[in-house]
Amino acid sequence: MRAMVFEVVGKPLVLKDLPIPQPESGQLLIRVHACGICRTDLHIIDGELREPKLPLVPGHQVVGRIAGIGEGVHGFREDERVGIPWLGGTCGGCAYCRGNRENLCDSPRFTGYQADGGFAEYAVADHRFCFPIPEGYPDLQAAPLLCAGLIGYRSLVMAGEGQRLGIYGFGAAAHIVTQVARWQGREIYAFTKAGDVEGQRFARQMEAVWAGEAGELPPSELDAAIIFAPAGELVPQALRAVGRGGTVVCGGIHMSDIPSFPYDLLWGERVLRSVANLTRQDGAEFLALAPRVPVRTEVQTFDLEEANEALASLRRGTIRGAGVLLVHDETKGE
Ligand SMILES: [Zn+2]
Ligand SMILES: [Zn+2]
Repeated sequence: MRAMVFEVVGKPLVLKDLPIPQPESGQLLIRVHACGICRTDLHIIDGELREPKLPLVPGHQVVGRIAGIGEGVHGFREDERVGIPWLGGTCGGCAYCRGNRENLCDSPRFTGYQADGGFAEYAVADHRFCFPIPEGYPDLQAAPLLCAGLIGYRSLVMAGEGQRLGIYGFGAAAHIVTQVARWQGREIYAFTKAGDVEGQRFARQMEAVWAGEAGELPPSELDAAIIFAPAGELVPQALRAVGRGGTVVCGGIHMSDIPSFPYDLLWGERVLRSVANLTRQDGAEFLALAPRVPVRTEVQTFDLEEANEALASLRRGTIRGAGVLLVHDETKGE
């Protein structure tokens, strides 16, 4: 099978011909149709996340059809369309797992990090962590739901129920969260990098009530803000934009250092928190919610071999909505 492989930090992914993996006990073999790209993939390739298996097939927003079933798998059938998310496995026994917080597991296995992911024609995954993909979502539109959607949704829940919600960094997760929050009757205030006129236009098209630069203050005080951009200087800026009792959620897995800031910005019972990974419960809730909104993902498509170009576009911030690798186009037959 063709696979785009991460071998050395800071070097581009390499196109390789690998054997098709065989499903072990409890695993599904999935023929990959589409795999979303994510900021986390950049953090892995750049060496900011330090524990990847090497060599590694990245990619943790995998949509495809079941092509093989290992022993002891229940509840899935051959040819069913499924998704593999970032959370690929947990220990099941630690205090976090037993306390319904498996996203914080002591020894987790993450897809496209500790296990090979979806930048390849086939992938295997523990069936207990795979999700059926809702009908009505084409492969390309479904892929971003699996991380941008899930982590975005968890961030939105953690942000609380306030009416005025700021979003810093208007990419894949933001454009999904905006649709859910609007459906809930909330207002979105979008913050982009200085000069990112295109990003602000996109945010207004997604019906943000206001879009501006990250350093600006919004026209009214926010109830909460979610930071998706990996820039620590956004933390004091977001704290400045939320009112007393407001929550600022950091939705990314890695962020540059947060500069020191006056305690005044946190005073007034403002809350600063991160969101880590996902639980299977988040997945089940969000994948049931998405068709009801309905969430419509905007995607920019790349071929599997263009994974490096896709990641470069993500880094430059030029992808509108979500970037997705099209690995196997089922609509074109074999
Ligand atoms: Zn991700
Ligand atoms: Zn655990």
